[in-house]
Amino acid sequence: MKLHHQIFIAMLAGALVGSLTSESTTLFGVPILAGYDLVGSLFINGLKMVVVPLIVTAIINGMTSVGDGNNLGRMGLKTVALYMTTTVVAVLIGLLTVNLFSPGVIDGQPARDLLGLASDTEAVLAGIEGRGAGDFTQILMQMLPPNLIAAAADGQMLGLIVFALLFGYFLRTERNDAGRSLRDLIEGIYQVVMKITMLVIRFTPLGVFALIAATVTRTGLDAIEPLAWFFASVVVALTLHAFVFMPALVFFLARRSPLRHIQAMTPALLTAFSSASSAATLPLTMECVQNRAGVSQRSSSFVLPLGATVNMDGTALYECVAAMFIAQAYGMDLSLATQFMIVITAVLTSIGVASIPAASLVAITVILAAIGLPAEAIGLILVTDRLLDMFRTAVNVWGDSVVTVVLARSEGEEQVLQRPVADAERMAQAASAHAGQGQTDK
Ligand code: ASP
Repeated sequence: MKLHHQIFIAMLAGALVGSLTSESTTLFGVPILAGYDLVGSLFINGLKMVVVPLIVTAIINGMTSVGDGNNLGRMGLKTVALYMTTTVVAVLIGLLTVNLFSPGVIDGQPARDLLGLASDTEAVLAGIEGRGAGDFTQILMQMLPPNLIAAAADGQMLGLIVFALLFGYFLRTERNDAGRSLRDLIEGIYQVVMKITMLVIRFTPLGVFALIAATVTRTGLDAIEPLAWFFASVVVALTLHAFVFMPALVFFLARRSPLRHIQAMTPALLTAFSSASSAATLPLTMECVQNRAGVSQRSSSFVLPLGATVNMDGTALYECVAAMFIAQAYGMDLSLATQFMIVITAVLTSIGVASIPAASLVAITVILAAIGLPAEAIGLILVTDRLLDMFRTAVNVWGDSVVTVVLARSEGEEQVLQRPVADAERMAQAASAHAGQGQTDK
């Protein structure tokens, strides 16, 4: 059975099993929720384990293989332009939807009392500390970490990326033997880490099953009810972005079938959905973009790690809808200037948000502060956060993959999304088997 079918079935089974178990259910005396958590965490740990070496070697590799300075400048500019444009469009779609739906206004009245604010604000804020960019200066500080190892250990990928970009930039121009050996070494590490990644990926269905079962057991599905309009606004806006705007880019700019691209990306999208972490999904995203969508290593290894860290369409959109919803619920006057402020802050903070679950919450407090609302108001949206996190993370990963395909096509890569996914998978397997054979022969 194909991987994405396996993952899909595992997801449904996880939701079913999760809805049958509760937090107090035990199996042979062992709490079943702890079992789900263990399996889910092992899977996520497996993916996280490869993230740091993968990001660093992929970016350095990407930098050294793009060719001369002109190539690099052109690709860099295109990447940044595409990332910025897609994020701004995502936020505008969110803004439009939240204005149309007005989820914070119920029967013409701000919904503040109906919704009630969470009283455990302190605990909430303490729980989300360190997950995102507090403010703009913090984003800048993250870009130049004083200690690389500490940044890697804390999952502050922005600093690591800047270092890898600089390292790759200078390694590219080292023409001597030492430079060549170092390039080979880094390329070798990248290949091996990718193989470890493939091994972890085989366990995706099991991991996804456990993650979904744990989420459904914890939150249940009734929790959403009072916030149904807010929930619907976010999902509708994300759907418009993911299924209308993004496919249009694939179709018009990349001149390829959006459907085929969705097919190619399914394993990564389902993993993003169940793990709610685009950083943990990155290894799988790279695998899908390279082996199933046929994008060269040259384009993807440069664009994807960067995207997983700084390009978050779903997150930016969610931040905008959430801040607008809270402002509406407070009965705040939403002048054009205020909405503009929300848009700008959502776009900028989404760059600094960590690619881990619930990271947006911090950014939303920043937006609330920018428009003069108390940070404690995020209490309103906590109930639905986990579920919406799954949707927005999938959109984050989808956005990165679309930009990569568009970029690869603009660089003249003909093979992108040309072959049916099944063929591509078979060829990739054959190639890795062949490579393994070659090694044993030696
Ligand atoms: N969970 C999201 C991600 O990893 C970030 C967020 O919006 O909270 O992409």
